[in-house]
Amino acid sequence: MSSNLTPLLERNRAFAETDTRTHTPRAPFLPHQGLFIVTCMDSRTDPADFLGLRFGEAIVARTVGGRVTPAIIQALAFIGYVVETKAPEGPYFEVAIIHHTDCGSTLLADEEFRQGFAERTGYDDDALTGLPVLDPAATGRSNDASGFPVLDPAATVRADVERALSDPRISSRITVSGHVYDVDTGLVATVVEPASPRASAIR
Ligand SMILES: [Zn+2]
Repeated sequence: MSSNLTPLLERNRAFAETDTRTHTPRAPFLPHQGLFIVTCMDSRTDPADFLGLRFGEAIVARTVGGRVTPAIIQALAFIGYVVETKAPEGPYFEVAIIHHTDCGSTLLADEEFRQGFAERTGYDDDALTGLPVLDPAATGRSNDASGFPVLDPAATVRADVERALSDPRISSRITVSGHVYDVDTGLVATVVEPASPRASAIR
């Protein structure tokens, strides 16, 4: 059966004929460059393209807008623990969160679209728009801010760096930085220099 994946399976066979997959990092799933990159799932914002990432160089996680979701926090907590227990000699692990201009998540800024999405999925409308839910416990509503539209990537990436740095589950062996990728110029600008978690309960 043919699918959109079919032509890519041809590329897979070509890949398997090379020795690329044998360039495994020393600690197999800790990448060569000690990097964890969070970007938007937008097909234009693949760091293999705009950062020239090669095999085994970085962990890449992609979400709507490149927002730091609970799943991203869990992945960062996991990798921090792996570093502490499996690679205690270091070095530090660097997390780079990269938001971008012209992001599709800005659709959530449109009231009709956002409310339709909230109704269709059960996600909290206020959380999707970025407004705080005043009493999450009493209302049973979520205050998870990770659905905010990326209208101002420099502002949302600052908020997400802060979110990661303030989570006590993130190891102090990890640094977090924030960046904006401009889809027009192709350039990445750093807006938050690498910093360590302040509230880390972990080494
Ligand atoms: Zn995007």
